[in-house]
Amino acid sequence: MHIYAVIQQSIKGRKPGLKYLSLLLLLVIWQSGGAQVVYGTNSYVEYHQGTLPVVIAVPHGGAVSPAALPNRTCNDAVTVTDLNTIELAQQIDAAFFAQTGCHPHLIYCNLRRTKLDCNRNLADGACGNPAAALAWTEYHNFIEQAQASAQQEYAGNILFIDLHGHGHPIQRLELGYLLYDDELRLSDQELNTPPLIAVSAIQNLVADNANNYTHAALLRGPQALGTLLGEASFPAVPSAQIPAPAAADSYFSGGYTTARHTSYTTGNTVNGLQIECNLTGVRDNATNRQAFGEALSTVVLDFLRIHREVAVENCQPVAIEDLQNSPPGSIFPTLWTRQDAFVLLNNLPTTGGYYEVYNNLGQRIIGGDFVGDRIALPGHFTPGFYSLHLRIGQQGWTFRVVVN
Ligand SMILES: [Zn+2]
Repeated sequence: MHIYAVIQQSIKGRKPGLKYLSLLLLLVIWQSGGAQVVYGTNSYVEYHQGTLPVVIAVPHGGAVSPAALPNRTCNDAVTVTDLNTIELAQQIDAAFFAQTGCHPHLIYCNLRRTKLDCNRNLADGACGNPAAALAWTEYHNFIEQAQASAQQEYAGNILFIDLHGHGHPIQRLELGYLLYDDELRLSDQELNTPPLIAVSAIQNLVADNANNYTHAALLRGPQALGTLLGEASFPAVPSAQIPAPAAADSYFSGGYTTARHTSYTTGNTVNGLQIECNLTGVRDNATNRQAFGEALSTVVLDFLRIHREVAVENCQPVAIEDLQNSPPGSIFPTLWTRQDAFVLLNNLPTTGGYYEVYNNLGQRIIGGDFVGDRIALPGHFTPGFYSLHLRIGQQGWTFRVVVN
């Protein structure tokens, strides 16, 4: 049941116990800025446990570069970072939460790609280093754990996204369903033949979708993911607008993670894809990351509803933020007037980070990046209880705030 409905029902309830329950729920929501976070060894990888039918993995956005780990040099290792993709995933998360009151599952690799590549097989990704290999294993275990949890909750109707950033000249999203560019240039009729369906990351969806759409229609028909993204002003290939990359275009068709964790792998029923995001207009600044996050969350929820009749209105409330690490400092002020212009951080890391403000229903009001020890606020809050959630590096804290 959606948290808001729970509260309404509880408040309307006549049993004395329900009044207590509603108060309890408000307290829970009060401190519910983010999802529960589970860290791997040395925090090299992390898993934000969500409750939506969406699992998002981010392998190449990490910036942690411990001297104890050797730089990868094996097998022509690719070491370039996918700029701002963790920050992008944070905005996608915030957008899903704002729309539904629930979080997607998120898995991050925090290590720089010079140290570990989680989107390669173990040998190529960790280059034989035991600590890197452990992080690689934990990362893929987190994805499996997230998928199992989401699959169970949504009866097998989930979408997996492996989120990346490309440096190709054409500024458009590259959707990788494990079909090569020359395969995408084939006719719809050819794409609908068994040999090409058998190598697709959405083959389970082809076998079972609400409108009996063909493989080609699911890749680039009117209600394909790429088409919906294009209509939301984020051009994508393949889509109805751009059915296939041209022969001269650079294009990523999907990698190790997409193959391993989707229905491409025998026995896995998860549908998914790799989304390679262009930089300009998508992940280059906070405003664009927010706009893309909002578009992607809307499109993914539409996609799941259209093709698998998934309803998220009844998603379970967010998990409580892991507050076992109490903040080393505080914020000032915690009693805001409606016109407050900024919040100062006391004894907290001042490297900057990401902030969000939630109301007492757990609905996100505002959020964005900040730098230094000062967060500028737009003001004009209505009176009430709020929570300010800060994420600085790999740490996150929630502070209670009152607006009078
Ligand atoms: Zn990448």
